[in-house]
Amino acid sequence: MAIFSAASESLPVVSGNRTRPPRHLADLTASQRREVAVSLGEPGFRADQIARHYFARHLDADDADAMTDLPAASRAALLGALLPVLLTPANVATCDGGDTRKTLWKAFDGVLVESVLMRYPDRATVCVSSQAGCGMGCPFCATGQGGLTRNLSTAEIVEQVVAAARVLARGELSGGPARLSNVVFMGMGEPLANYATVIGALRVLSDPPPAGLGLSARSITVSTVGLVPAMRRLAGSGLPVTLAVSLHAPDDELRDRLVPVNRRWPVAEVLAAAWEYGETTGRRVSIEYALIDDVNDQPERADALAGLLTGRLAHVNLIPLNPTRGVSWQASERRREREFVRRLRSRGIAATVRDTRGREIAAACGQLAADEADGSGHATG
Ligand code: SAH
Ligand code: SF4
Repeated sequence: MAIFSAASESLPVVSGNRTRPPRHLADLTASQRREVAVSLGEPGFRADQIARHYFARHLDADDADAMTDLPAASRAALLGALLPVLLTPANVATCDGGDTRKTLWKAFDGVLVESVLMRYPDRATVCVSSQAGCGMGCPFCATGQGGLTRNLSTAEIVEQVVAAARVLARGELSGGPARLSNVVFMGMGEPLANYATVIGALRVLSDPPPAGLGLSARSITVSTVGLVPAMRRLAGSGLPVTLAVSLHAPDDELRDRLVPVNRRWPVAEVLAAAWEYGETTGRRVSIEYALIDDVNDQPERADALAGLLTGRLAHVNLIPLNPTRGVSWQASERRREREFVRRLRSRGIAATVRDTRGREIAAACGQLAADEADGSGHATG
């Protein structure tokens, strides 16, 4: 199976002697945050004030003047210690009439990650990255082609969500101010390969302010390629997030090619862990299936998939393949896509074709970052 290497060959650039992202309040527990304030000679509650500004008002260090409850003389020191700048926008692109906004972020060490904010009539969803790059090597995925650069920190993940909430609250997407309702871990990276950090982010996203952002865990979806031990740990974490499993093929022969980690945890083991997850959390599991023309969209594969899912609390999310540079695969023809859906539904399997928001600005997983890295970025800021 081909694993490509065009997208991001650069090693992380280390600024100064820093090798980790700066410490940020989203990396710390509430009591650790207070200790930081105390270490600066300030009362511990200053940390709660800053956390409230960040999580409830979505302010950042640039908004220091708006934090009028902090003494002017200590604002800079407190914000420097608890609210450093983690990500700066390197490219922002909007499409879908202003309803979709994709941001390419540059981290402290120059690595690029992306997030996509999508506004719908009834909800607003941000798709976030959990790693810079990805080590799983799925050949149809732009992120997979460049390998893993590094794990993101908890605060780098949380910051993508807070930035999206800020854009919505300030009415910067069309349709006026709105609240962020959903988070999906479907940007760059394999979230369960950065397990402890992602769990930390899930806790911060779901804890109420001032500890965190106060989103409901159920409105957060973690998408995984099928890392079985981590799926089991997630089930036991007490965080009832929605689990999405990227299956893409019902048989090991094809899945070994499309999702190389299948050689370690094959279809039967991945699905057994998915059903366990559903039983433990009471949540319906989402099965992701990118439809690739003449590769995995045959009628017999639809039937085989239906056979695997019959009687299970599952929903199939079919994703028209977003073609990736260097790979000749295309999205399924509409006729084949319709037949695939029909076959699943005729066997009682819930299936929908995912809307391909942001396609015109290459919003599929990892594509904006890949374009930027090889110098052919076509999104405009
Ligand atoms: N690593 C995780 C989450 C990030 S990828 C995972 O693989 O689940 C998010 C989703 O985008 C996955 O379902 C993935 O299979 C899908 N995806 C990746 N590249 C794609 C492409 N070129 N076209 C359509 N879907 C793609
Ligand atoms: Fe990684 Fe997911 Fe892309 Fe596979 S599809 S390479 S797991 S980001």
